Amino acid sequence: MVKICCIGAGYVGGPTMAVIALKCPSIEVVVVDISVTRIAAWNSDQLPIYEPGLEDVVKQCRGRNLFFSTEVEKHVCEADIIFVSVNTPTKTRGLGAGKAADLTYWESAARMIADVSKSDKIVVEKSTVPVKTAEAIEKILTHNSKGINYQILSNPEFLAEGTAIQDLFNPDRVLIGGRETPEGQKAVRALKEVYANWVPEDRIITTNLWSAELSKLAANAFLAQRISSVNAISALCEATGANVAEVAYAVGKDSRIGPKFLNASVGFGGSCFQKDILNLVYICECNGLPEVANYWKQVIKINDYQKSRFVNRVVSSMFNTVAGKKIAVLGFAFKKDTGDTRETPAIDVCKGLLGDKAKISIYDPQVTEDQIQRDLAMNKFDWDHPIHLQPMSPTAVKEVTVTWDAYEATKGAHGVCILTEWDEFKTLDYSKIYQNMQKPAFVFDGRNVVDSDKLREIGFIVYSIGKPLDP
Ligand code: NAD
Repeated sequence: MVKICCIGAGYVGGPTMAVIALKCPSIEVVVVDISVTRIAAWNSDQLPIYEPGLEDVVKQCRGRNLFFSTEVEKHVCEADIIFVSVNTPTKTRGLGAGKAADLTYWESAARMIADVSKSDKIVVEKSTVPVKTAEAIEKILTHNSKGINYQILSNPEFLAEGTAIQDLFNPDRVLIGGRETPEGQKAVRALKEVYANWVPEDRIITTNLWSAELSKLAANAFLAQRISSVNAISALCEATGANVAEVAYAVGKDSRIGPKFLNASVGFGGSCFQKDILNLVYICECNGLPEVANYWKQVIKINDYQKSRFVNRVVSSMFNTVAGKKIAVLGFAFKKDTGDTRETPAIDVCKGLLGDKAKISIYDPQVTEDQIQRDLAMNKFDWDHPIHLQPMSPTAVKEVTVTWDAYEATKGAHGVCILTEWDEFKTLDYSKIYQNMQKPAFVFDGRNVVDSDKLREIGFIVYSIGKPLDP
């Protein structure tokens, strides 16, 4: 029986391994993590992450051929194929701070693999890493090899949170990069066999290692670029009376462009887009390509601009101040169908409003009060000037309340900001909300989810990103 071990039981390691276990009953899959609480949650009825369909998959194979464990070394030692899916955040200090990937977790995983292995291993990069990381990992492993053969593969993950299970069941493509040596190609074939259990052969792409590593950074940069492009157009729409939904529809109808990822919004978030573009920027700079670096930087700058533009719109619409006013924030996760708040635009929007002394009441169906308070108390890292900015003052954090109900959050509010596109926000009883709000009652739709005409009929003053302003 082939044994797979995945180091890192996070948003990627957990769902990807659960799907491999489901689709390959003859493979034993063990997901290991240094976090005792995370592993305990994977072994309980309350999984550590919210992802539609995940619970069902885990329930079908947990205890059969899917296991979650904190015995990292034991399972690494026993595995034939080791996926490494640890976090690769942006470095916050030292060389490359604010841009380069922090590979501390990766390096310690690689050194641990070298320490405990007693048989040949295929080591798979599942985390998103800078191009050429495989070379560094190879050095660590081969210099400590004790005669063991290691083959490094790059197999970046393209799932999107919120649709992870669907994406894993039916991927657009699976990408595997390996060395062009006979041993390297043998390892590529071994991993290909795993995926071939459910992925059609024409969707499994094999490349050299560096192409696979770079493709992941490039794919995220392209996706984020589309969002920043349409958001840049949304600002122009507001200035001219054009409607971004109409423009995006017309533009997306061009088959060379396509309709996906053209929704204007308050900005992109999540743990990947900003981090991976920063990483790309750093790699460009290290390779003497400052103009290329600047090109990609602009994607993040427009994203930051979009968030501050939104805050400015809220404040200026509400007679130039939100001091002492209650603002209800609907949605805190970075997108719908996830409880993940990493880099969510809601953090910057809330901080902007708190900076103008608003009182904020937040509701998100999947995010806990603890998480929100932690996010708002965290320092913001300024990647252009890598120094830590001041944390939120304790008094500002006190101005935040978290409710488990949209109606409670909006009670007595002067304005409502919709920051995540949860489906339930489309069908709220806005007449009831209007009755319980201060007047004039404002809605600032940062995701273009509500029917603004209907809301205006009720009496709201409505701002929707990139759309003509309230008459
Ligand atoms: P995560 O923070 O949710 O999970 C990483 C896990 O690795 C944590 O639970 C941590 O405790 C564990 N870990 C760290 N060092 C370890 C070690 N030495 N031994 C055992 N466990 C260790 O991160 P994630 O969102 O799953 O992302 C993982 C990687 O996948 C990142 O490189 C990310 O860029 C990439 N990725 C993420 C997504 C996404 O949507 N989240 C999508 C594609 C790729």
